[in-house]
Amino acid sequence: MSTITFPVPSTTTSRFAVAGTSIPGDLADLLYESPAGPYHAHIAGRLGSPQLQVTREDLTCLRWDPGQITASRPEDRQAARAFNDATEFAVVTAFAPITDQPRGVQVARAAAQAIADAVGGITADLITGHLLTPSTTERAHFVLADQWLGDVLPPFRANGRCTAAEPGLDPEGVNGCACVRLRTRGLRRFGLPELQIGEVACPHDLAALNVLRTTARRLLTDHWSWLATGPAAGARTIAAALHLGHGDFDGFWDGARRVHLTPPAPFQVHLCPLTSRLLAVGPPADFDGTVNDWLWGDTLPLGMYDVPRPPAAAPHPAAA
Ligand SMILES: [Zn+2]
Repeated sequence: MSTITFPVPSTTTSRFAVAGTSIPGDLADLLYESPAGPYHAHIAGRLGSPQLQVTREDLTCLRWDPGQITASRPEDRQAARAFNDATEFAVVTAFAPITDQPRGVQVARAAAQAIADAVGGITADLITGHLLTPSTTERAHFVLADQWLGDVLPPFRANGRCTAAEPGLDPEGVNGCACVRLRTRGLRRFGLPELQIGEVACPHDLAALNVLRTTARRLLTDHWSWLATGPAAGARTIAAALHLGHGDFDGFWDGARRVHLTPPAPFQVHLCPLTSRLLAVGPPADFDGTVNDWLWGDTLPLGMYDVPRPPAAAPHPAAA
């Protein structure tokens, strides 16, 4: 059996930033006094420890670039520009054992959102590089679809530069282009390598994204099971062949977005290490064809093609 071994850090760092026109100096006080929510006690209990540091930063001391933050939804683009141009920020840093996840990152994000609510600010996730959807209250339970992965579709048809045929209109168009490469940005905070799927033709971008999401959800679930066994090693070995089921796909979205696959077909992906921190996701080792033959073929469940997009994901913008 082909396997992959990757290093597992004992701690990871997550950071969130809130841009505002006036960020107060004593952010801890602001958080203690913020309205009670499901994370209030956790925030109060962790403030000041490495697991929850809150600092005010302005342009004289920034060690990151607000200009790199982007909106994952078209309707947030104006807010993203305001974030890019802001001069004062509250930065929330959570340096925590991976056995503390996902609680650690949820508490940190809840703290960032509480600050944003108090100052009328705009919040960004500095790991994904994306703006967070305004006024989202942190859920009590963890749902991977809640903007944890930086999983968004690329600009439609490479911003209009790609003119490859639609596969539905021209079967020869299945491999008409290879414009799309999708990569997760966020699994690292849970101590996992990021995932990438590349050489994808534009018409298959949504199927590729859903394969990536399903794989991420499965790897993360398995990872937490593995961590629960109290492993002593700083490395984990997994099978390169991953068998995925509808539970992995539904689990990504949480029950509310349950998609009924008909039939609930299991499928397989093959993982291949590109670096110690990045795994490529592709068709099973015995699949005869390209990644696009696989994405367009009949081996993937139908739900991979027609799942409604989550609120956080960008719909295809008009070709520019
Ligand atoms: Zn293309």
